[in-house]
Amino acid sequence: MSQPISIYDLQGFDQLRRELRIDPQQVRQLRNRLLKHFDSDADVLAKFPASDQVRLHSLEVYRRCDSELDGASKLLFRTQAGMLIESVVLRIATGRTTLCVSSQVGCAAACEFCATGKMGVAQDLSASEILDQVLQAGQLLASEGRKIRNLVFMGMGEPFHNEENLYLAIGALTASELFHHSPAKILVSTVGIPDAMIRCARRFPEVNQALSLHSARQESREKIIPLAKKYPLEQLRRAIVEINRIQQKPVMIEYLMLAGVNDASEDADALIAWLQGLDVHVNLIPYNPIEDAPQLVATERPGRDAFARQLKQAGYKTTIRYSLGADIDAACGQLVKKENRTIQRHHATTLFKQK
Ligand code: SAH
Repeated sequence: MSQPISIYDLQGFDQLRRELRIDPQQVRQLRNRLLKHFDSDADVLAKFPASDQVRLHSLEVYRRCDSELDGASKLLFRTQAGMLIESVVLRIATGRTTLCVSSQVGCAAACEFCATGKMGVAQDLSASEILDQVLQAGQLLASEGRKIRNLVFMGMGEPFHNEENLYLAIGALTASELFHHSPAKILVSTVGIPDAMIRCARRFPEVNQALSLHSARQESREKIIPLAKKYPLEQLRRAIVEINRIQQKPVMIEYLMLAGVNDASEDADALIAWLQGLDVHVNLIPYNPIEDAPQLVATERPGRDAFARQLKQAGYKTTIRYSLGADIDAACGQLVKKENRTIQRHHATTLFKQK
């Protein structure tokens, strides 16, 4: 039998439809039920005549962790290459639901404070692996009577290091014949790769962007973000000017608060000076401690509040991110890394045995 056809392969589906003389309406219904309504696999396949010839998923659910504190769930998936990635479902009290997706396994940016960066080299996810996180999370939420409202590329990986697949995925997410998700409800978060940020704004002007700035002082930023050397603050600032011109909506500035690293009043002054004239929304992020960076300590609540006050007084929209799933975060963020290490070791032994 020929290879099953991926649900996102529009041409492949056309061919299958013609070969088997399937009514185009049935193909449309299959896609709509699955990608817009997130009906279960069994339901959609039962209504499709060639169900054995289609492939709905490219990821396998490995484990699900539900927060005991709030409405967050972490979904661990196994990729086609056998590695683990995670997506996070955030059921926010107001009823809005956000899904945070991964774009890579591991991350080459290797930021000091980030568990993914400590995993070692990155492997790109394919567009269908990115999309399947949305599909499977969407199905889980649909079974609870919920819908994904916001989609954020804030999971594992640097989206702009996997730029083509990111764009293919955004294209499919926003296409009316596929997911039909509003581009204005998608956000791409980046360590800061100026040319790619501008390309993304040109290609998807409605898609929101977030820059993980974390410091507006070149020297301090370089200490925690190795790529800061390659893409200096001045270049990032020029990129935001250009994006503001294209998008006419604020760019989100993410600022992780680290005690003694970037949280002094002078750091706030440097940030205020750097932001001058930009259309931005500042999001202060409480640091989630990771095993591999014992030297980094979170700024306490009063410090974060004082920093936020200073920014607000200077006229910048500032919010302090309320963190969900603190219990599963620590557990699973580290878990993916450990489990991937075991998988890699397992692969290595299998190879060794074959020799
Ligand atoms: N590579 C992209 C997206 C992934 S990280 C980026 O750099 O933006 C998503 C956000 O989580 C980024 O702002 C990142 O800096 C932040 N982050 C990483 N590790 C963190 C930690 N231990 N605690 C809190 N936020 C963290």
